[in-house]
Amino acid sequence: MKKHNFSAGPCILPQEVLQQASEAILNFNNDDLSLIEISHRSKPFMDVMEKAISLVKELLEVPKEYSVMFLQGGASLEFLMVPFNLMKKGGKAAYTNTGAWAKKAITEAKDLGEVVIVGDSSDKNYNYIPKGYEIPMDVDYFHCTSNNTIYGTQMKEFPSTPALLVCDMSSDIFSRTIDVSKFDLIYAGAQKNMGPAGTTLVIVKNKILGNNGRKIPTMLDYNTHISKDSMFNTPPVFAIYVSMLTLQWLKDKGGVQWIEKINQKKADLLYREIDRNPLFEGAANKEDRSNMNVTFLLKDNSKEEQFNKMWTNAGINGIKGHRSVGGYRASMYNALPIESVQVLVDIMRKLEQN
Ligand SMILES: *Cc1c(COP(=O)(O)O)cnc(C)c1O
Repeated sequence: MKKHNFSAGPCILPQEVLQQASEAILNFNNDDLSLIEISHRSKPFMDVMEKAISLVKELLEVPKEYSVMFLQGGASLEFLMVPFNLMKKGGKAAYTNTGAWAKKAITEAKDLGEVVIVGDSSDKNYNYIPKGYEIPMDVDYFHCTSNNTIYGTQMKEFPSTPALLVCDMSSDIFSRTIDVSKFDLIYAGAQKNMGPAGTTLVIVKNKILGNNGRKIPTMLDYNTHISKDSMFNTPPVFAIYVSMLTLQWLKDKGGVQWIEKINQKKADLLYREIDRNPLFEGAANKEDRSNMNVTFLLKDNSKEEQFNKMWTNAGINGIKGHRSVGGYRASMYNALPIESVQVLVDIMRKLEQN
C-alpha cells in the first residue's frame, strides 16, 4: 500500500500522474523515445509546453493581458527576479514579513533598493497574518506570501493597494480560487501543488514589465522568457511535463473550485480534531490557519514517542514539524486524499483513549 504522504514539499502527486510520468520516461508519445531524450524544440515537447501554459490559464482564469512562464531556479530565484524587474533604480518596495520565505525575499530585494516592512509577525514566531497595515503610496510594488508553509498560516484576504501586487503562492496555488486580475505578478515553485521540483510558475501582467530603468541580466529578465515562450534555453522538460499532467488531472476532476471544497473538508476534519482533542493544540492563530499546512503540538511531550510510533506504523509520512516551530505539520496538498486525513485523525483519537 502507498503511504499517507503529508510531506511539506516536494509533496504528494496523484498516483495516476506518477504512472503516466513513468511511462513517458520509457516511451513518450509511442515514439520509442524517452521524454527526457528528445529535443525540447520537437513538436511533441512543444505541445507539452503549450498545453501546460494553456491549462494554467484555464484553471486560474488568467486574463489575456497576462503571460504565463515556466522558469527554473525555484521560488527562491523569484525573490531576486521580482525586484530586478519591478523595482526602479533607487526605488522602494513594501514587504510583509510573515516567515522564513518572506525574509529571504526581503533579503534579495534589499540589495536592489529600499524595503519597507509593512506587516510583521516575527514577534510571535510568525504564528499569525499581520493585518491593518498601510502600504505607502510611493512604493514600486507590494510583496506578500499567501501561505506560510512552515508556520501554517494563510492569507484569507489580500490588501487592495494602488501599488503593484506581487505574491509568492508557492504553497497554495491551485488549492483555492483566486482572482488573478487583482495581482500583477504571481509566482510559485512547482513542488508544492503542481509537480516535481525543477520549475517555477510565473504569471505576470505584461504592461508592468520593461520600464524600471534597470539593466536586467538576460536570464533574470521576464521579457526574455516571455518572448521565447519559456524556451530561451533548455527548459526543465520533465518537471514541466509532470506539472502539465497534474494540471490536466485537476481539470478532469473538476478544477480549482472543486479542489477548494475538498481542501476545506480536509482542513475542517483535522482542525476539528486538534481543537477537540485535549492532548493537542494548534500552533497558528485560529483565524489565520492554513488549509494546506496544518501545524499542531502535543501538549504533553511524554506522549511523543507513543504518538510517533502510532502514525509511523499506520503508514503516515512527513508530519514532523519544521525545526523552527516544533511539534507536527500535516501538509494536505491537492493530491492528498481525505482518507489519509481520516487515518491521522483516528490515530489522534486512539492516543487520547489509551
Ligand atoms: C518552498 C517555498 C519557497 C522556496 O521554493 P524553492 O522552489 O525551493 O526555491 C518559497 N516560498 C514558499 C512560500 C515556499 O513554501
